[in-house]
Amino acid sequence: MKFCVLGCVAAVLSAPCGLFARQSPQLPALKQEAAAEVDKLQTLTQQMVDEIFSFSELGFQEYETSRYVTSILEKNGFQVEHGVAGVPTAWVATYGSGKPVIAFITDIDCIPRASQKPGVAYHDPIVEGAPGHGEGHNSGMAVNVTAALVLKKLMEEHHIGGTIKLVPGVAEELLGTKAFYVRAGLFKDVDIVLGAHVESEFSTSYGTGNGEWSGLVSVQYFFHGKAAHAAAAPWEGRSALDAVELMDTGWDFRREHLRPAQRSHRVIINGGDQPNVVPSEAAVWYYFRELDYPHIRELYELGNMVAESAAKMTGTTVDHKLVGSAWPPYLNKVIAETQQKNIEAVGMPKWSDADQTLAKALQKEIGAKVDGLKEKIDPLTEPVKKPVGGGSDDIGDISWNVPMVYLMYPANIPNLPGHSWANGVAMATPIAHKGSTAGAKVQAMTALDFFLQPQLVQQAWDYFRNVQTKDIHYETFLSSDDKPAVEMNKEKMGKFAPELKKYYYDPARFRSYLEQMGIQYPTVRTKP
Ligand SMILES: [Zn+2]
Repeated sequence: MKFCVLGCVAAVLSAPCGLFARQSPQLPALKQEAAAEVDKLQTLTQQMVDEIFSFSELGFQEYETSRYVTSILEKNGFQVEHGVAGVPTAWVATYGSGKPVIAFITDIDCIPRASQKPGVAYHDPIVEGAPGHGEGHNSGMAVNVTAALVLKKLMEEHHIGGTIKLVPGVAEELLGTKAFYVRAGLFKDVDIVLGAHVESEFSTSYGTGNGEWSGLVSVQYFFHGKAAHAAAAPWEGRSALDAVELMDTGWDFRREHLRPAQRSHRVIINGGDQPNVVPSEAAVWYYFRELDYPHIRELYELGNMVAESAAKMTGTTVDHKLVGSAWPPYLNKVIAETQQKNIEAVGMPKWSDADQTLAKALQKEIGAKVDGLKEKIDPLTEPVKKPVGGGSDDIGDISWNVPMVYLMYPANIPNLPGHSWANGVAMATPIAHKGSTAGAKVQAMTALDFFLQPQLVQQAWDYFRNVQTKDIHYETFLSSDDKPAVEMNKEKMGKFAPELKKYYYDPARFRSYLEQMGIQYPTVRTKP
């Protein structure tokens, strides 16, 4: 691995490219040193991947994760401010001083009901029904913290000026915090944001990328009726559940007449207590997704109108609470082009036969295309002309305030459904460990590009000001009285935490989480 990086960096060195002709003479050597230092931290990287996997904490309840990560950073000389932006599990860790200020961000929360034993190619939960890292957010901090520790060492040794900041994506699955981070001014002095997210490929993008991003608002509707005996005096009651059902029906009819770009989905979070009591309280939770701010606003207002109408029909009242929001991300071309060169220099991890066996067995198990792990890196492509929309990420709000890219590092298996146990299978195995090491190299190398070439920082801002925000100006979805929904998931996490605690990873006793759990790697079905 190390050998490959040296070779690739040498190739970059001799490239007759305008960008590299202008760089400081020591930059290629520094990047090479950064990659070698990341390799030296492989054990720590693996431990962070495995430890955070074992914590399995839902959004806003990432207490163990935040304690663990910030203690590593504090021990290594980073200043940590806890509880930022009114979010108890959020923090900002800082090292260095002066410009440029480069911020690393990555998510830390997991998915309900996604508990899964790592390295096992079929559904086998660690704790039945418990949350688990069924997206792979457990690997992000391993990437960013490894990169930050290496950068700090290099900045000290080589007297490189500038500031590194690390920020966690708390409750990303709820799109719950980043608009609040922006509102609290966390990125006010930041020059460049380097986000990292788990993927099965090694890539970056700019503009609207592949067009599969939507923005959204996440809104909970609380209906209030009147309780009565459901058999003896139903005419005395007013059912809040009726209102929820009518709102859902109304929305489904209206959906036919919305732009194809809209995506909306709901869960009923309170459907009443028992059938013989007319439900006086019921609640439904919607995600309303669209491609841009004005269309998301429109959906939000339409949702409110449908809710009011359902309340009128049923003689109930309704109020709503915004619990999350996200602009569709828009990423910076200058940073993406710089990052792509580093991705190509680092290259894909070398997968073992065991890694490929696990990947193919899982793909077969879930009925996906069986083509194993990716071996190749695709070139950087132009953004699609007509975005179609898809998932959301609240980094979108950051990307409209500071030049930002989102590194996708190869730490998971391709062709998985997302947000499920299957996406957790690889996440405490050598696939996630190697992918995180590769991601950390690119994060460190890209930060060095911007620390050592002030003109690149300037170019990134030129793109941000003259292209990205030329006609579109950021407006938050938050009203002044919206607050982070920090109570969410408290009950669910409280229910499972005591059981999950029994399975926390102990790196003092076991070389890996697989070893601690006594899992043969890989474990695949022997019979179809
Ligand atoms: Zn994610």
